[in-house]
Amino acid sequence: AVVNPYEACFGLAESAARSGVDIRTDCRVVSMGHSGDTWAIATSDGEVRARFVLNAAGVHAGAIAQMAGLDRYRVRARKGEEYLLDKRLRGLVSRIIYPCPSPTSKGTLVIPTYDGTIMIGPTADEVDDPEDVATTASGAARVIAAAKRLVPGISERDIIAEFAGVRAVLDDEDFRIGPTDAAGFFDVAGIQSPGLTAAPAIAVMVVGLLRAAGLELAPRPGGLAEVERPIHFAALPIIEQQRLAAADRRFGQIVCRCETVTEAEIHGAIERGAHTLDGLKFRTRAGMGRCQGGFCTSRCMELLARDLGVSLAQITKRGGGSWLVVEHGDSGAVAGGPAPLRDLGGAS
Ligand SMILES: Cc1cc2nc3c(=O)[nH]c(=O)nc-3n(C[C@H](O)[C@H](O)[C@H](O)COP(=O)(O)OP(=O)(O)OC[C@H]3O[C@@H](n4cnc5c(N)ncnc54)[C@H](O)[C@@H]3O)c2cc1C
Repeated sequence: AVVNPYEACFGLAESAARSGVDIRTDCRVVSMGHSGDTWAIATSDGEVRARFVLNAAGVHAGAIAQMAGLDRYRVRARKGEEYLLDKRLRGLVSRIIYPCPSPTSKGTLVIPTYDGTIMIGPTADEVDDPEDVATTASGAARVIAAAKRLVPGISERDIIAEFAGVRAVLDDEDFRIGPTDAAGFFDVAGIQSPGLTAAPAIAVMVVGLLRAAGLELAPRPGGLAEVERPIHFAALPIIEQQRLAAADRRFGQIVCRCETVTEAEIHGAIERGAHTLDGLKFRTRAGMGRCQGGFCTSRCMELLARDLGVSLAQITKRGGGSWLVVEHGDSGAVAGGPAPLRDLGGAS
C-alpha cells in the first residue's frame, strides 16, 4: 500500500503529545550514565532521567550505544537517492513497479505517491558520512536509466525535486530489537527498509519487552487522544471548496498555487505544532509543487512569523541554525543567532 508518510508520522506524534507524551525536538543526546536503576541522559536541552532507554537513533545508534558503555555494533550508512516527477505524469502508473531486487535493496522503483506525483528511486550506496544526504549526478543517472527501463515514458525533464536519506544497516542486514547487557537499555536499531511499514509492529514488540522488564503500563483512561485529519483543500470536490471558502475567507486565499494550499490550512498547521518551513511543507504540501516554494516561501514565512509572534529572522527551514534570512541592525551589523523555534515532529 502507498501511504502519506508525513500524515502518518504527524498523526501519531500529535496523538502521543495530546495523550501526555513530552516530545522534544532539536534536542541532541550528548552523553549518558547509569546509577542504581536510573539513566541520566545529558542533552543539549538539559538532563533527562529515565529507568528505560530505547536506542532508536538510526545511523547514530552505534554512537548512542557507546555512550551507554556498550560496544555493540557497527552501523553502516546506506544512502538512497529519490527523484520526484511532476504531477503532469499523474496516472502514468497506477501501482508501484518493482524490478528484480539486488542483494542489498529492492532496486529502483517507480512509485505513484499518495499526492499524485511519481517518485523514482532509491539508490543504495554505502557512504562514510552518516549525515551525507546529498544527491549526486551519478545517482540521478542510474535512477533515471533504471526507471526508464521500467516505464519508457519517464523523462528526466519531469524531475521537480530530489532528495536522499540514509538507511541504518547492521552487519547481519537485520533489525535488532531487544534488551542489552546494560540494564534498562534496549536496542531498536538497524531499522532499515521497511522500517516505516514495520513501525506499528515494532512498537507492539517494544511494549512487550518493556513490560517483561518490569515497566508497569496501564491503559490510559479514555484511550489514546484522537486527532482529526487536517483538511486538504486541493483534494476536496469543488462544491465543498466553495462551502469552506464561503464560511471562512482564508480558504479563498491560495498561498501555494502549485499545490492549491490555502491560508486556512497554513494557519491550521501552525496551530497544530508546525513552527518551521519544513514543518508547514510536510503537513500541507506548501512548497512541494513544480516551483518548489519559489513563490510561496516568503508568504509562508510571513504567516509563520505573524501567527507565532516572532520576527522573520527567527524562522528556520528545519530547526537548529537553518535560518532563512538574517536581520541587519541599524548599524548594518547582522543580528546574533536567534533562538530556534521548536516544531512538533517537523524539525528533524
Ligand atoms: C531512501 C529510503 C527509502 C525508504 N523507503 C521505505 C519504504 O518505502 N517503506 C518503509 O517502510 N521504509 C522505507 N525506508 C526506511 C525507513 O525510512 C526507516 O526504516 C525508518 O525511517 C527508520 O526509523 P528509525 O526511527 O529507526 O530511524 P530514523 O528515522 O533515522 O530516526 C532516528 C532519529 O534519531 C535521531 N538521533 C540520532 N542521534 C541522536 C542524538 N545523539 N540525539 C538525539 N537524537 C538523535 C535522529 O535525529 C533521528 O530523528 C526508506 C529509507 C530510505 C533511506
